[in-house]
Amino acid sequence: MVNYCVMRNKKTDQHKAGSNPGKERILDIIKQKGYRLTRQRMIILEELSKVKSHPPADKLYQMVRKRVENISFGTVYRNLRILKELDLISELNFGENFSRYDANPENHQHFVCTKCGQVYDIDKRIQVNYEGATVHEREIQINDFSLEFYGICHKCK
Ligand SMILES: [Zn+2]
Ligand SMILES: [Zn+2]
Repeated sequence: MVNYCVMRNKKTDQHKAGSNPGKERILDIIKQKGYRLTRQRMIILEELSKVKSHPPADKLYQMVRKRVENISFGTVYRNLRILKELDLISELNFGENFSRYDANPENHQHFVCTKCGQVYDIDKRIQVNYEGATVHEREIQINDFSLEFYGICHKCK
């Protein structure tokens, strides 16, 4: 199953592929857009950067709660939306009824295990032939795309 869809409008020159923006860079981006890098936002970013599991908001909330007492799920969720708007993280949806979050804001490829549901980053780029995906509409402008791969992971094989 190949999932081809137009995603968000994103400036690709914001950060170089593969490089996690440092704290200074994050501060710059947040300030430029008129936000503040609150302790909560920093911790959410840090916790998300620690894992490669692309956790949903409730899992991330459990992680953040260990460091910030009394933080509510609503606060974590609201901050995730802001961080996503600032292009510091990305939100992924694989047809599940919840989103997963990724500390890597760059467009990269994902592999979803159809047995355990684990989402992995694909380090080597997979070559895909886009025959048939020609866009005839002249009115639209494609800025980004998302392509997911589904199969069985190494643990479930
Ligand atoms: Zn698996
Ligand atoms: Zn990822």
